[in-house]
Amino acid sequence: MSTQSAPRVAVVGGGISGIAAAYYLQLRGARVDLFEAEATLGGRMATATLNGREISLGGKNIGMNYSLFREFVRDINNQQFEHFGLNSSRIEDGRIKTFDGSRRVQGMLGFLRGATPRDIYRLLRLMQAVRRDRSEGDLGGPRLQRLHRRWGASRLTEAFSPGFAERFTRPLVLRMNGAEPAEVPVANFGTNLCTALDSYEQLREGVGPLLHDFAQRVTVHTQAPVVQLQRADDGATTGVVIARHGSQERWQFDHVVLATPAPVSARVLLPHAPAVAELLQHVRYYPVGIVVADYDRDVFSRDVRALVFPADSPLSNAGAYGIDDRNRVRYTFSGRRARELLASAPSVERLVLEGERALDPYIPVRDKQRLGFAGKVLTTGLCAYAEDFSGFAEALVREVSLLPGLSLTGDYLAGASLENCFRAAKRCVDGIDLAAAQPPAPTLAQAAA
Ligand SMILES: Cc1cc2nc3c(=O)[nH]c(=O)nc-3n(C[C@H](O)[C@H](O)[C@H](O)COP(=O)(O)OP(=O)(O)OC[C@H]3O[C@@H](n4cnc5c(N)ncnc54)[C@H](O)[C@@H]3O)c2cc1C
Repeated sequence: MSTQSAPRVAVVGGGISGIAAAYYLQLRGARVDLFEAEATLGGRMATATLNGREISLGGKNIGMNYSLFREFVRDINNQQFEHFGLNSSRIEDGRIKTFDGSRRVQGMLGFLRGATPRDIYRLLRLMQAVRRDRSEGDLGGPRLQRLHRRWGASRLTEAFSPGFAERFTRPLVLRMNGAEPAEVPVANFGTNLCTALDSYEQLREGVGPLLHDFAQRVTVHTQAPVVQLQRADDGATTGVVIARHGSQERWQFDHVVLATPAPVSARVLLPHAPAVAELLQHVRYYPVGIVVADYDRDVFSRDVRALVFPADSPLSNAGAYGIDDRNRVRYTFSGRRARELLASAPSVERLVLEGERALDPYIPVRDKQRLGFAGKVLTTGLCAYAEDFSGFAEALVREVSLLPGLSLTGDYLAGASLENCFRAAKRCVDGIDLAAAQPPAPTLAQAAA
């Protein structure tokens, strides 16, 4: 395909879903324009600076099983990864109990203490399904749906005993979805199990250089919020409308990929495709507050690098920023109690004080000198998917197929991890008929002109 005859595709949203879509489109030969509302790319993977160093206030841990994401990194700037591992502690009877990826069996036995035979049987069935077939780790895995139906248990709290749901499932759904076990259907739990079965690394040079190097590959328009799509008489999407500098700009494209979180996509689509917009409103997102603080001494030890808090605490977890960055603490506020706190629009300073107050009785932090902090509250923070994912996905595919020239991707389609954003984006781009999107070849007269 010559550059001139290659189809022009707009990708809306410069988070990792949009970046992945733009990447795969370009690999397939399309000319891509990426539109991002903010001044920088990254979305919920974006970075900030604290005491002169880059910090991540969003997605940063890269699983060993993140094959698509790793392929992308190799291709973009081939930077190295550093070990992060899987290390998480919880408070039980006022004492700290640790699960470490290097002592997985021992850790699992700790979690299984007090579990009923039914808990163990069900957990093993779910794990077996995810281990056998990686696609069960996407949303809508058929085996998980069958188990969900067979057990007649719609939520995790119905499938497992209360103690086990709290001890084992809560840390997973809280971190990944900002949800409580009572809010998570069994059929959606495969994405969390995949996360638990993985082991983690971080980008050695950080997310910033990766985003920067990627931005050299495609045409990026920052501070360019798309407010609407353009539509032809036959219903086909023909471009995007951007609002900037107090006016609206209309850009023509052969195809548009909406890679924004479901509520944003719903807003953009409302005048153009109300049925799709209505469906997207079924996707739940929960808020999350993140603060990273630096101290003059290590707060965490090598053996205890993260602590998950019980349901009555707005602080859901606190952890060392890196395996050797134990004086840098990342506080995360998610889950039901955190929602109450976050609804009051707390300042970042209030969050750091709350975090320290909750952590200090278990891991002393107030005796250290705080050297600085940065953070933010994300209202569309963590995706907890559509309740009946399969029904939702089926209806979405049906409705979007009626809208030529438009595709959707995002964390609500395969799961809320960086790898799953890549999986959803790849599937989305593979499904685009680029030949049909290709502009007609110029006539002889046009070519001669
Ligand atoms: C605190 C936190 C920690 C996490 N940790 C991990 C982790 O360690 N590992 C992991 O794998 N995953 C992690 N995740 C999940 C992962 O970061 C997200 O699933 C992923 O970043 C979502 O990317 P996205 O592109 O779908 O959405 P977003 O990142 O939200 O991207 C959407 C983009 O669209 C832009 N936008 C919005 N409206 C418009 C518009 N009208 N026009 C143009 N652009 C628009 C936004 O500004 C944004 O840049 C974490 C998430 C959070 C919030």
